[in-house]
Amino acid sequence: MPKQKVYVTRARVPEAIELLRTLFDVEVWPDNTPPPKNVLLEQAAVNDAMMTEVDDVIDESILESGKGKLKIIANRGVGYNNIDLNAATACDVIITNTPGILAEACADMTFALILSIARKVTFGDRAIRNGKWTVFDQVPYLGTDVHGKKLGIIGLGDIGEKVIKRSIGFEMDVFYHSRTSKPEIEEKYRITRMGFNDILATCDYVSLHVPLSSETENMISSKQLSMMKKESFLINMSRGPTVNLDDLNAALESGQIAGAAIDVTDPEPVPVDHPIVNNENIVITPHIGSASKATFTAMGIAAANNVVAALKGKDIPSPVN
Ligand code: NAP
Repeated sequence: MPKQKVYVTRARVPEAIELLRTLFDVEVWPDNTPPPKNVLLEQAAVNDAMMTEVDDVIDESILESGKGKLKIIANRGVGYNNIDLNAATACDVIITNTPGILAEACADMTFALILSIARKVTFGDRAIRNGKWTVFDQVPYLGTDVHGKKLGIIGLGDIGEKVIKRSIGFEMDVFYHSRTSKPEIEEKYRITRMGFNDILATCDYVSLHVPLSSETENMISSKQLSMMKKESFLINMSRGPTVNLDDLNAALESGQIAGAAIDVTDPEPVPVDHPIVNNENIVITPHIGSASKATFTAMGIAAANNVVAALKGKDIPSPVN
């Protein structure tokens, strides 16, 4: 009997590809950029499974193309806004993600961003590299304290909770906004639920950890930025389209907020000629929230395990539809 076929859209996690190769006939897209749509349409039609990255756009036409043959698309990531979930369900294609693996790494990175922007880490680093550190004078590098400040978590899920855990060491007062209350987490970490607008108006650090959805797209634009305190910072560890980049740039230029640190942008990669790239009051990283070596590999193995379970008729570890 011929082996079942699996298509992997990037050669990024060799351990996961090796695992799949022990069981299946595996083909891997060789380039470092997403396969073009015509390739995805062709591969969806002839494979039993696909393992995808969060920047592969899996729309209705690709799912229709796989209907009847394609059993699973295993996304290597916790977010799955790149996949049309309703179309997947209609086409009987199982979608999976990789939860419970990357929250600690993303929370580490959230604090890296908070500390970098507040204490001018990248600003100082740039100054040295550009030959501007010519006298021992701390005045241009005076930052803002992180310890003892008010932290607002928007979207309290796995990552948000790990950020709160870290904030305890910094003795921060933590507030959160989510659609539902989380009494156990409130009690465990002594945190307080607050309305979205109240968090914007109150907190020194506002940190986004929501999934991208029709509710969260553009949730931070000029109106919300105008509610924030002049000395406050915006952190985005969620998805780029939650924040309007032009509005954020305007808020930074006008001094409406003190700074921002963002791991995600819309679009990605952010164009180097976008004015925000030259703003000194922002730290931008290239969507690397989960990207520690160990977590990166574990996410690949988790996605591969979803494929194995689906094709071998076992319980699927992390379905989302
Ligand atoms: P999660 O456990 O699902 O938590 C997300 C939380 O957001 C949920 O608990 C939910 O609580 C809340 N939420 C959803 N819609 C909301 C809304 N409209 N307003 C307020 N809160 C809302 O997910 P996670 O693992 O923490 O990850 C969160 C997101 O981070 C992912 O979806 C992904 O997009 C992003 N991410 C980014 C990176 C990176 O590299 N930058 C890495 C991993 C993940 P309620 O249901 O109570 O509202």
